[in-house]
Amino acid sequence: MNADWEVVIGLEIHVQLSTSSKIFSGASTAFGKPPNSQACAIDLGLPGVLPVVNQAVFPRAIAFGLSVGAEIGALSTFDRKNYFYPDLPKGYQITQMEQPIVTGGSVDITLPDGNVRSIRITRAHLEEDAGKSLHENFPGMTGIDLNRAGTPLLEIVSEPDLRSPEEAIAYAKSIHQLVTFLGVSDGDMSQGSLRCDANVSVRKVGATRLGIRTETKNINSFRFLKRAIEFEIERQIALLETGRSITQETRLYDSERDETRPMRSKETATDYRYFPEPDLLPVLFDVASIDAIKATLPELPQQKLNRFVKDYQLPPDDARLLASEIALANYFEEVARICDEPLMAANWVRVELLARLNREELPLVQSPLSATTLGSLLTRIKDETISGKIAKTIFTALWKQETTSVDDYIQAEGLSQVTDQDSLAPIVDKVLAAHPQQVEEYQAGKTRLLGFFVGQVMQETQGKASPGQVNALLLARLGE
Ligand code: ADP
Ligand code: MG
Repeated sequence: MNADWEVVIGLEIHVQLSTSSKIFSGASTAFGKPPNSQACAIDLGLPGVLPVVNQAVFPRAIAFGLSVGAEIGALSTFDRKNYFYPDLPKGYQITQMEQPIVTGGSVDITLPDGNVRSIRITRAHLEEDAGKSLHENFPGMTGIDLNRAGTPLLEIVSEPDLRSPEEAIAYAKSIHQLVTFLGVSDGDMSQGSLRCDANVSVRKVGATRLGIRTETKNINSFRFLKRAIEFEIERQIALLETGRSITQETRLYDSERDETRPMRSKETATDYRYFPEPDLLPVLFDVASIDAIKATLPELPQQKLNRFVKDYQLPPDDARLLASEIALANYFEEVARICDEPLMAANWVRVELLARLNREELPLVQSPLSATTLGSLLTRIKDETISGKIAKTIFTALWKQETTSVDDYIQAEGLSQVTDQDSLAPIVDKVLAAHPQQVEEYQAGKTRLLGFFVGQVMQETQGKASPGQVNALLLARLGE
């Protein structure tokens, strides 16, 4: 990037709210169903139908607003945004223009260098999603799938406060974290549950007016978001430095060619002929119902991190990692609860599980080991049935799905630790008898040879001896 230019970014993030039916109809929002099997007369905009608001969208939008310190309007209204597009059967989208449900607020982002910045939120409003145009498998034609039409969205608009692609990613990740912790969205980006429009402009360092921006639409991964913004920055700077100007327009990011290209020239609000939706009444929220939502807000990322440090005595870096994603945090807590050893649970989740998932590029939901299974494995370390080393081999067997039950596997493979003194004593004696030289040296004061003897016993028992028992037996035999 060029030191003469300052980058300015504002994001519009569309979050799919986690309701089972659509925002203005009773049709299901389930993902991946056959095309057009989940679009009812209301979603299709057939004549004579009337929308009815799904009440479940309000507490979700309000929970988001409260968690970012926004103002929740006492009155919220819907408007029509008119435009013509094949995947928009009504010819308009119901959205909120004049009186959005959420106004203001801010989100703190932590940058890779540890600095924290506060990013202002302009507003967040409810709206319906459009359908989808399908080009594959339709040579010379366009297929239309209206299953998504009417899916409830919360569009979260930021102020142009972001100053680099890294800040934009950190902000988008914070929003993702927030909505998944709140449970207002599943945040599954591969299914389109969180999509970003990136507004990007550049200006000379020191300039006070914002530059002309482009808006790159519908980006569905953090990596693509970063690439799209980087591409736009370079493109805009190159144009301005050669005396050309930026056209205010809507662009799209093509991940295969790793570039953005123009989609249409930028519409302004007047192009959309916004007007109040006549088929829906304004919605009123009283203080009591907002307070009730406030009282039931779940634990947010920072609070969870603090609790992990305080209650489980986790090192802050481990706590930060384990509290970064709601699914991971829940997994860890379940393992810790089952084995009742939080530190051991944290280590195994971090070192064994996450490393393995990363290596095989699997998300946590596809982990071959459930939290219950990992918890039961760690329980067997804790009660000294197995050593940590044997536990790692069992972990691998579970991972490869050679077994599903920790206890059955321990039994079938004869892996339980030899803890009874009667069977360990002869092995200890054998080891001592085989190394008279070392016994003599030990008794002459070279006590660090104890580790050597323990190692020999472990080898004899293929790692199955309980180290504590072996130590005790050796000390007794060698005379402390
Ligand atoms: P529209 O609704 O037409 O897309 P808005 O004024 O509501 O336009 O802005 C949408 C987004 O664009 C917001 O996130 C805002 O912060 C961002 N934005 C506005 N002006 C600029 C600019 N010059 N450079 C970068 N982002 C901008
Ligand atoms: Mg916009």
